[in-house]
Amino acid sequence: MCVFCEIINGNIPSQCLYEDEYVYAFRDINPQAPVHFLVIPKQHIESAGKITAENSDLVAKCFEVIPKLAAEQGLSNGYRIISNCGPDAGQSVEHLHFHVLGGKSMGEKLV
Ligand code: 5GP
Ligand code: ZN
Repeated sequence: MCVFCEIINGNIPSQCLYEDEYVYAFRDINPQAPVHFLVIPKQHIESAGKITAENSDLVAKCFEVIPKLAAEQGLSNGYRIISNCGPDAGQSVEHLHFHVLGGKSMGEKLV
C-alpha cells in the first residue's frame, strides 16, 4: 500500500486538516512555504496522468476543498496549487496529490 493510502487509513500519522468520504487533506511533512498542505482523493489514483472520465469527480472534490482550506489557513493573499506528474516532474509519491502553498510571496514562477 502506498504512503498516502497508509496516511488515509491512519497507519501513518498525519496532521489532518480536512476529511470527508472522498477527500483527505493534511500538512506536508517537509513544508516549502509557511503554509503547505496536500489534498488527495481517498481512492488511489497514481497521478494526474491517470485521471479519467470515471474518476474526475474525485479531482473536482479535491478542488472544492482547496478554497475552503486556503481561507481557513489564512491564505487571503493567494496561494499556489501544484501537482507533480511522473519522473520528469519529480513526483515522489505515486498517489495523486495537490500541493497547496502559501503564506509568503512565491517569487520565481515556472510558468
Ligand atoms: P511529490 O514530490 O510527489 O510532488 O510530493 C510528495 C510530497 O509528500 C512531498 O512534499 C513530501 O514532503 C510529502 N510527504 C512524503 N511522505 C510524507 C508523509 O509521510 N507525511 C506527510 N505529511 N507528507 C509526506
Ligand atoms: Zn495510495
